Amino acid sequence: MTMTLIGLGVSRGVAIGRAHLLQRGQPEIVEYSVAAREVDTEVRRFQAALAAARHQLRAIRKQIPEETARDIAAFIDTHLLMLEDSMLTTTPVQLIRDSRCNAEWALRQQRDAVARVFDAMDDPYLRTRVDDIDHVVNRILRILLAGESNAPDLSESALKGQVIVADDLTPADTVLMKNHGVAAFVTEVGGPMSHTTILARSLQIPAVVGAHHARRTLRHGEALIVDGEQGVVIADPDRAALRHYRRRRSGERQRRSELARLSDKPAVTRDGREISLQANIELPEDLRVVRKFGADGIGLYRTEFLYMNRAEPPGEEEQYVDYRRILRTMQGRPVFIRTLDLGADKQVDGSVTAAATNPALGLRAIRLCLKEPELFRPQLRALLRASAHGPLRIMFPMLSTTQELFQVLGLVEEIKAELAAEGTRYDPLVPLGAIVEVPAMAVAAPLFARHLDFLSIGTNDLIQYTLAIDRVDDEVNYLYDPLHPAVLKLIHDTLKAGQKACIPVAMCGEMAGDPKLCRLLLGLGLTQFSMQPASLLEVKRIVLDTDVGKLRRRALAVLRATDHEQVAARVAKLND
Ligand code: PEP
Ligand code: MG
Repeated sequence: MTMTLIGLGVSRGVAIGRAHLLQRGQPEIVEYSVAAREVDTEVRRFQAALAAARHQLRAIRKQIPEETARDIAAFIDTHLLMLEDSMLTTTPVQLIRDSRCNAEWALRQQRDAVARVFDAMDDPYLRTRVDDIDHVVNRILRILLAGESNAPDLSESALKGQVIVADDLTPADTVLMKNHGVAAFVTEVGGPMSHTTILARSLQIPAVVGAHHARRTLRHGEALIVDGEQGVVIADPDRAALRHYRRRRSGERQRRSELARLSDKPAVTRDGREISLQANIELPEDLRVVRKFGADGIGLYRTEFLYMNRAEPPGEEEQYVDYRRILRTMQGRPVFIRTLDLGADKQVDGSVTAAATNPALGLRAIRLCLKEPELFRPQLRALLRASAHGPLRIMFPMLSTTQELFQVLGLVEEIKAELAAEGTRYDPLVPLGAIVEVPAMAVAAPLFARHLDFLSIGTNDLIQYTLAIDRVDDEVNYLYDPLHPAVLKLIHDTLKAGQKACIPVAMCGEMAGDPKLCRLLLGLGLTQFSMQPASLLEVKRIVLDTDVGKLRRRALAVLRATDHEQVAARVAKLND
């Protein structure tokens, strides 16, 4: 029987395929025997996971204010104590040695044995303590599974043409899906600006998020239509629905082929202003699409994706080769590479930042890099070395204070001196800039602009932090508003600060690729847009059809609107 599910359409396009249901919440484990010579390695793997779990919990513990949260602290202390207890430290090791089972299996057996003891207790309170064991055990399991956790389901070639239906997906999952020809995805949670959905748009995978209870409602193998624009999922569609959506799908293809004709045209407005339209990329392979859509450069390379789906972070040499390759491929066009932005919703499985109680406000991006120079230095060395091979721009994410900025600039100077002493080539004048994504930086943009060569507005985070809404939380999605007067004011102030300091200001958040906002941004004075490659031609079509001089006054009037309706009406008029 046909059934319709409504979620949030976050990546446009129509897909028709069979449902592939995935469970990403509870860690699933594989049980296998280890060879005698591998037993010591397996024990060490288990002990490293225990140490990482302690590290994560201590990091959480430190963030609890002493005076307020005794109960919570005690709760975490209990978990820490469990991690010291022989029930979790010694017995699983014995199991690995005696039965030669893998670490996950040993841990699961021990968990079941302890749970049986608790279940047999008379005291109802003590019986519930088995939940604590599960929390601790699951934490260790997730760390053990890091790097492999995405493996069995998402790496199968059988996924080709299927619609993934999951509780949630990480950006790392989405990257894995890319090569397997997944037709679309539907998740129960998620927001329009989460990194997973940004990736879906950039990979042109139709996607619907926030489709509550999707896995309970949809059946594995069932035929589905996914409309990634309207947020509609139709299960077991009838003939009429199939006909309608097939027509829509071919209309979409037609639209794309018409836009393709614009790829070699320079983006110049009707009144002769040259606009730079650049691409955001997550992986070096994205370069193929960038060329296809005729981007004027790479406006944002999100380097953290290099660190995902692998056990060890990439070293200096690997990064250098990667960055050099991008510069060479872009043949003299500018490439803005952002330094590592790990944390919040961009986790490397099992990393310490995964433990933060409020990750979006925690040890993320530049904060993490400054705290862990051994992570940051190789990247800076690789970037500076790569600067000898083309017009590289280095940009730093999530700066909120000038002290951080000075620390970063100091580190860059140190590394330059190091390279010079070694006789290694680099561009001493490589431009350094920052992403304006913390409201404090937007407000104080003139202070930062003074010390930098460029700014780039990261609207995804700027909106999240200005409006105090977690960009991945679908409960507060409805508040995510790029047209909020506060957001528009911060964007305009940043553009003005750049002008005053005589440095360019670009925009690399999702707003830059939204065709409905293009004229407003042109009118406010933006000339450098960076977006997912799939949006480039649509935005170019609007640029070619706009006379900026004629709309400037009306664009500035949007800033004076007093409520959302007025803003929306004025923006709609700009687009007429
Ligand atoms: C942004 O915040 O706007 C941005 C471009 O960075 P990311 O989406 O990777 O956080
Ligand atoms: Mg950001």
